[in-house]
Amino acid sequence: MRYLENHSIDVENLFEALPCSAALLDAQGVIRDLNQHFADITGYLVDDLIGRDFRVIVPLQERISPFIAPSDGDGDFGFAHIVRDQELAVLCRDGHEIPADFSYSRLKINDQSWTVVEMHDKVLQNGTKNADETIDNGAIDFEASLANSEQRFRLAFEKSMAPMVFSDRDGLFLAVNSAFCEMCGRSEEELIGRDSKSFTYPEDIGISEKVNGLIKSGEIDEHRYGKRFLHKNGRIVFAEVSICCSRDAKGEALYYVSSVRDVTEERALAAQLSFQALHDPLTGLANRALFDDRLVQARSRTIREVKLGAVLLLDLDDFKGVNDSYGHLVGDQLLIEIASRFKQVTRTSDMLCRFGGDEFLYLAEGLTSPDEGELIARRLLDTLSEPFIYGDIRLKQHASVGVAVWDGEIPDNVQLVQDADAAMYEAKRRGHGCIEIFTPKIGHEAFSRFALVQELREALTNGDVAMHYQPIIDLASGTIVGFEALMRWQHPERGWIPPDVFIPLAEQSDLIFELGSFALRTAMAAASTWKATNPNVGLPYVTVNLSAHQFHDPGLISLIRQELESSAISPERLILEVTESVALADIAETLNIMDELNRLKIGIALDDFGTGYSSLSYLAALNPKIIKIDQSFVRPKHDKKRSDTLLEAIVSLGNKLNMTVLAEGIETPAQLDRLHNLDCDLGQGFLWSPAVPVQEAIDMLAQSPEG
Ligand code: C2E
Ligand code: CA
Ligand code: CA
Repeated sequence: MRYLENHSIDVENLFEALPCSAALLDAQGVIRDLNQHFADITGYLVDDLIGRDFRVIVPLQERISPFIAPSDGDGDFGFAHIVRDQELAVLCRDGHEIPADFSYSRLKINDQSWTVVEMHDKVLQNGTKNADETIDNGAIDFEASLANSEQRFRLAFEKSMAPMVFSDRDGLFLAVNSAFCEMCGRSEEELIGRDSKSFTYPEDIGISEKVNGLIKSGEIDEHRYGKRFLHKNGRIVFAEVSICCSRDAKGEALYYVSSVRDVTEERALAAQLSFQALHDPLTGLANRALFDDRLVQARSRTIREVKLGAVLLLDLDDFKGVNDSYGHLVGDQLLIEIASRFKQVTRTSDMLCRFGGDEFLYLAEGLTSPDEGELIARRLLDTLSEPFIYGDIRLKQHASVGVAVWDGEIPDNVQLVQDADAAMYEAKRRGHGCIEIFTPKIGHEAFSRFALVQELREALTNGDVAMHYQPIIDLASGTIVGFEALMRWQHPERGWIPPDVFIPLAEQSDLIFELGSFALRTAMAAASTWKATNPNVGLPYVTVNLSAHQFHDPGLISLIRQELESSAISPERLILEVTESVALADIAETLNIMDELNRLKIGIALDDFGTGYSSLSYLAALNPKIIKIDQSFVRPKHDKKRSDTLLEAIVSLGNKLNMTVLAEGIETPAQLDRLHNLDCDLGQGFLWSPAVPVQEAIDMLAQSPEG
């Protein structure tokens, strides 16, 4: 009769009393109990190990060993030795390994399998032996170097910045490093012995299973794939997993090693970059590239659905004035606000894009008639009816809209946008806040404009653009006191093209700056060849016209300085002509520019005087050297009496303000007489000469009556 059969003995005490280290594992290899010896050797507390996978105390490289033998299906409960004295190492809590012998016994209670593990620490045993091992130095060295390399491997794994895991054939984790734990926000204990299902993004569970299946079946040995994990805090972790498999001699998968790359930030950055690549940073609207893409799709949809589409180009009216008067911060604010107002009336099927600067594009789809394009334009413009308010600043902003409607036949994106642009140009010509629908006529005009600008560009380099000079006469003496430089373009087929036609075209592109510096350079070079007609009069000056863009160009002053140096004429001999409307549009800026010009000793002539919205107080503040009375007062077409009165008033005003008054466009001796009687100082006109080439101007000087 066995003693225990008759005596109820506390199993726990018995377990504790065993002279060896022992632990009790369940069928899944989870430690359910252990004695103090066992805990002591591993360096853990008893409670630390309860509930944890047994493999936590097995070195990484050993974790795949079949240390728990498969069930042999034997009957009732009882002990059965399965493995004896298996030489293994114990991975202690502090990371160091100690060699140990393991024995496993299987125990079956009520159909549940348990394993009892006995562990014999070999260091303790070795301490009491072992003379013969010391003799075999070679063997010790080998073992030591093996232990070393294992140690190194473990260190590399543990300390790797890259999340890494070892898993068994079923995908259960055998080992995870701290980078992996950190990536998924779970501790080693929570992971060992489990698979990744519970923290994989539900849609991606299949991906890992499929890959594991392929590896297990021997179809592939390694694979790289993307999947999403769920961090414990709920965040989605985008990962790139590289998995490879180690096989035994028969080709059976032993274990898997996966290294994982957290690409969440990378993806976010890439997404941000691709957003940036396709959106305007200021307004967040789509940019031209995205618009182009959508337009291509929209065009093919239109053909399929037999509908119409429209491209609207919206251009803010005089937006430059906002930037100039209130600064770029207010300008930017205004653009953002306008974008958001437009956005509010953009249909979900449509698209709004910032085309650049103060231009927006709107893509409308699914229209049934061309009129709908105009309705959309009206709806967009209506959003601008309320003023924009920034602190004390209250802005009213208008826009002009060009609409190009298409029915699927349109050849390409570029053409559509060009058509909308041409229509917009027409809208602008009609004034602020207008809408214009593209027509073939508009297209034709735009084309000739465009072609003309191209030709003008060539003409400038070919020498087909020249400066001519119209004499300026002192009315009292009849002497030439200067010349106005006027630009001429000799077109090879079309003959002389008047500057009234090509200057406004050039103003729409950078070409105006090239033309402008050409005019300055050429006119100053010409002036340097002119001689005085009379020792009392001094050298004749040259007046050069500045366009609005040139006048506001920040590079103007340095350009003038540079040309003064190379032409070597004295600055008093250069006078810049600016129209009254350009000079008075932004009086503060004009005063600044005038200030700098004054410092250079360069005078200003206020051109076309009387046609703008002259303000007398501004005129006094600007104090131009010359005011040029517009030809319409000298040669009035209608209401001659009124013009006459005005002419008289202007001349006397100029005289009272001590400005030199010049009358333009004098064609007849009668006009000359009248102006002379009014005390007008200077005159210009066909009565004396139209503008002539430089050589003729020189000849003219030689013949000029001495004053
Ligand atoms: P503007 O500055 O008012 O130039 C005077 C215009 O009146 C010139 O026309 C001149 O040829 C014309 N004119 C002069 N005397 C008479 C006359 O007695 N009767 C008539 N009917 N016309 C006369 P043009 O040369 O065709 O120039 C037209 C406009 O083109 C100029 O008006 C000016 O605004 C612009 N322009 C000409 N050259 C330049 C230039 O180099 N730069 C810039 N920015 N604009 C220029
Ligand atoms: Ca002029
Ligand atoms: Ca003029």
